[in-house]
Amino acid sequence: MDSDVGELQPPDRLLMGPGPSETHPRVLRAFGTPPVGHLDPAFLAVMDDTQALLREAFGTDNQWTIPVSGTGSAAMEAAVGNLVEPGDTALVPGNGYFGDRMAEMVRRAGGDVERLTVPWGEPLDPEELRDACEQHDPDVVGVVHAETSTGVLQPEMRAVTEAAHDHGALVVADCVTSLGGVEFRMDEWGVDVAYSAAQKCLSCPPGASPLSVNADAMEKIRGREEPVRSWYLDLSLLDEYWGEERAYHHTAPINNVYALREALRLVDEEGLEARWERHRRVSAALQEGLWALGLEPVVDEDARLPSLITARLPTGLTPGSVVETMRDEHDVEIATGLGAFAEEAIRVGCMGHGARRGPILETLGALGETLADADVNVEAGAGVAAAVETLRRR
Ligand SMILES: *Cc1c(COP(=O)(O)O)cnc(C)c1O
Repeated sequence: MDSDVGELQPPDRLLMGPGPSETHPRVLRAFGTPPVGHLDPAFLAVMDDTQALLREAFGTDNQWTIPVSGTGSAAMEAAVGNLVEPGDTALVPGNGYFGDRMAEMVRRAGGDVERLTVPWGEPLDPEELRDACEQHDPDVVGVVHAETSTGVLQPEMRAVTEAAHDHGALVVADCVTSLGGVEFRMDEWGVDVAYSAAQKCLSCPPGASPLSVNADAMEKIRGREEPVRSWYLDLSLLDEYWGEERAYHHTAPINNVYALREALRLVDEEGLEARWERHRRVSAALQEGLWALGLEPVVDEDARLPSLITARLPTGLTPGSVVETMRDEHDVEIATGLGAFAEEAIRVGCMGHGARRGPILETLGALGETLADADVNVEAGAGVAAAVETLRRR
């Protein structure tokens, strides 16, 4: 015993950034449940429960709805890597960091990338998408429903999928920061493949990530000439584990699945629509609080994502130092802007268990103090006051 590695004692932070979000205590308890074997009939029942609850959260009847082992990027890679074959053309949005990541995954899958050039901070225009489909004749169209790097919610998803389908392309949607927090209706909107993550609006530790694939997409995947380049994420192999056979492929992250099941049970108990409304209501109060502190919205109201707000700081303040003070002095995690907004904005999450009165008031109080201490001419409590008034009005 000569190691000086001490007991694990991470600081007690309030997680109000772009994820991970606050974990619900019931989810943590489920995570701590002793594992059984991944082929134990008891775990097979847990798999069935989780799949049924996932279908409900996505708004889909897709048989092919599973938690992928890994974080949201693994689910993204499963979606892109299975759907895109070498030589396929994929049209991928250019209005944020996660669209860029999707484009890189398309290239690695052997596909050709065409970008839709849209400024950061703005959504895609379905008419422009239609023109781009006309021009590039893509096999796959990617869309980020909730772009966490900018705080943009893609409106008119139905028009997006119609434009793609009219040109014979399948649609893959990133709903990492919307699933369970912001309206998303997979089947009704005609989304062919959707993926998410556990640690955003589902308030679950990262590690098992929702993915749903419809019959059209599965047909394309089954008809591939070349096997999927990733063995681990090959859906036709995963089918043997999550499908009828229940044969070994890889060991499922059992405790992550326990936790995800509990997180989805919470979604089911609250009700999807009630949950969307809670995120809207609490986020509106958070936003009024930010504006009362002198910050300014980066994204127009009609495309503003409730679960992640990007806010410009008063001039003279650097996002990095505000984020540091919030963390070190107040134990509140928020994040700096990214890309085009890295030098001027902060990002504040309003997700899952964090999308409640207590967490947003604590965040606004800490931010008010941080700004007042940095000699910004603002009343430290102005954000809290505005948020409370907004909550009272609703
Ligand atoms: C967080 C996030 C991801 C990636 O998820 P990880 O769990 O970090 O791998 C992908 N897309 C969006 C929009 C995200 O917010």
